[in-house]
Amino acid sequence: MSGAVLSPPPPEPAGNPDLPLEFECQFCGQRSAVMAPITSRSVGTFALRCVLDSCNRVRVFQYLNDEVSDELTDPPPPYCTDLQSRGPVLQEVARLSVAASELTLLGRLAKDSDERDAAYRGAAIHLRVAAEVLLGAHVLKLGVRKRRKLDLDELIEKIRTGQGGAMLRDGKRSAAVRCAEYVQELGNTSAHSLRRKRSREIPPSRGNVLIAIVRFEELVNATRLRRRGAS
Ligand SMILES: [Zn+2]
Repeated sequence: MSGAVLSPPPPEPAGNPDLPLEFECQFCGQRSAVMAPITSRSVGTFALRCVLDSCNRVRVFQYLNDEVSDELTDPPPPYCTDLQSRGPVLQEVARLSVAASELTLLGRLAKDSDERDAAYRGAAIHLRVAAEVLLGAHVLKLGVRKRRKLDLDELIEKIRTGQGGAMLRDGKRSAAVRCAEYVQELGNTSAHSLRRKRSREIPPSRGNVLIAIVRFEELVNATRLRRRGAS
């Protein structure tokens, strides 16, 4: 090998360092340039918060070499935009479910299993709290004192046995109950090391949290945003 001549590595693609790509925030619409944090020859991801202080949502980007190649943030579910203009109870439901989506994204980015577990458990618990607010305050119209005395399984039981009909869409009662039960079981499993009934354990894996996000959206879509007949 002594006579081998090593040719120099090919030059790096020049790109255009003066023009970082612009990405539009799917939450607030603000456009901003996003730069890769480091130069990397393999695909990497990073998270940052929206530049607009009033938005401040977590956004996740993918980069290669020294250029941001894609945004991985999922757009907010359509119901979130709808709920944000509907008064404090539904705004709280929207805020909690957006926080659950952010935590799910952070779980995807987590570097170790403890961090990932914390993010997915947090997402599951946020969805469980959101379901409690949605069913207790919005569907059943209970005040704070009554809601303090009832756990989510008792709220679900009231709906299963026929209460809250004015705030449910026609034919959607059993779907609402089924979706709320999934969110409840995942949230309860996430907040405990063991459950009394093993058959009711739903571990807070990424896949199960993504199912709960879909179930929660179905739950919102099974409810009426206004009381039947209200203008
Ligand atoms: Zn934004």
